[in-house]
Amino acid sequence: MKKTSNFFDFLVSHAKICGFIFPSSEIYGGLKAVYDYGPYGVELKNNIKNFWWKSMTQLHDNILGIDSSILMHSDVWKASGHIDEFNELLIDNKDSKKRYRPDVLIKKHIEKNLSKNTKKKEEILSRLYKSLKKKDLLDIRTLIDELNIFDPIYKTKNWTKIRFFNMMFKIKHTKDLFLRPETSQGIFSNFKNIRKSNRMKIPFGIAQIGKSFRNEIIARKFIFRLREFEQMEMQFFIAPEEEMKWYEYWKKLRFKWHLILNVENKKDYRLCNHTHLAHYASAGTDIEYHFPFGFQEIEGIHSRRDFDLKNHELFSKKKLRVFESEKNYTPYVIETSLGLDRLFLAIFSSSLKEEKLENGKIRVLLKLPYYLSPIKAAIFPLVRKDGLPEVAKNIFNDIKIYHKLIYDHKESIGRLYRRQDSIGTPLCFTVDYETTKTYTVTMRDRDTMQQKRIHINEISKMIEKETGFEKILKKLSY
Ligand code: ATP
Repeated sequence: MKKTSNFFDFLVSHAKICGFIFPSSEIYGGLKAVYDYGPYGVELKNNIKNFWWKSMTQLHDNILGIDSSILMHSDVWKASGHIDEFNELLIDNKDSKKRYRPDVLIKKHIEKNLSKNTKKKEEILSRLYKSLKKKDLLDIRTLIDELNIFDPIYKTKNWTKIRFFNMMFKIKHTKDLFLRPETSQGIFSNFKNIRKSNRMKIPFGIAQIGKSFRNEIIARKFIFRLREFEQMEMQFFIAPEEEMKWYEYWKKLRFKWHLILNVENKKDYRLCNHTHLAHYASAGTDIEYHFPFGFQEIEGIHSRRDFDLKNHELFSKKKLRVFESEKNYTPYVIETSLGLDRLFLAIFSSSLKEEKLENGKIRVLLKLPYYLSPIKAAIFPLVRKDGLPEVAKNIFNDIKIYHKLIYDHKESIGRLYRRQDSIGTPLCFTVDYETTKTYTVTMRDRDTMQQKRIHINEISKMIEKETGFEKILKKLSY
């Protein structure tokens, strides 16, 4: 299916109908840019997390995991620069009462109207980035007027002044507390503890999966831009002279990781070097994925140099330098920062298909990599009589301690297969009259729809072989 807006509507509705993603607080009218993961959504999300976690902390003996708290001392955010620098620009249209990011309005405008005039495009972008750096809001406002940019809905140019908007959520407490806007500060503030308690030497990494919160101005596109989201971040601490070596290493490895994960859709990924760097970064690349609404960032790889550790040293007055290889220095950091919800959306959108069957009917198929599927196998009785449900339930009970399974007999066998196809279950095992004689069941493969008979003692091993993490981790291991 093509990546059109119709496809995107279909995806959002499929995610809801099949129990993957629901709008938050829906019975109260919903909450903008916040979503809940349903029964199959949480399983898929956990499998994605598990795969990333194993790739980082199991395949690299010098990467350790942590789980730091969401609330941190308010000085952390002064040291990290988030209080002063974590801002987006904002402009309102007085007629439509809609709020926009002026930099996005400008980029969209030149993409649409100057797509062939590369020189002019670059001139405008360079002026925009210069003004952003100098915080020259007046010049950005002038650029909007010069380019004749109007409100996409009301078609008027009745714009307000441009202002800054800090994206952190503040909690009123005895002291000012913030919901963390990135997980990495929990890593930097634990650098010393981890290095000491685990006797780590440079280079080494710290990985973490956790929730982050940003008060996004324009939060649209389903789970692409959320106010509450999850990040999978890894900070790799290195000697300063090795900055470019490790930057290139992680850029390459992270790109390879995405391609191996989504092997059938390699052309949907690209690397895009940053022209405008975040306040902490000295080099940066985005891994972009071709979402149904175009290429957009899914993961960022940045060199943060010693920005964070030095500032934490300054604000905390605790020594964060190391003395190694006869040198006393503050380590540099290469960071890989991946959005779990964006990765979920990328995998979900590349897996969701409509296939025309030989009988002319359409089957909806969620062609997830087998090791990520929420349910690994389904067990059905062919009919709901003659003791077949009891046999199927016994098989289910014997194997459920090893794999995430489903037992179902609520519909006809054809419908049961369609339902599992639509949630991406790789294997279905059906108990029929022969099972009671030969102890065999039919095994149906999701993608080929082919069936073969296997002995009931083979079922668990077969599920492990077809849906386990082993094959994919071997491809990443070196
Ligand atoms: P963008 O430019 O799209 O706002 P960013 O450059 O601010 O993203 P980073 O600060 O580098 O993003 O965060 C790392 C990753 O976290 C991103 O690549 C993305 O996958 C994820 N992420 C960031 N903001 C959000 C959000 N509001 N909703 C969902 N995921 C997000």
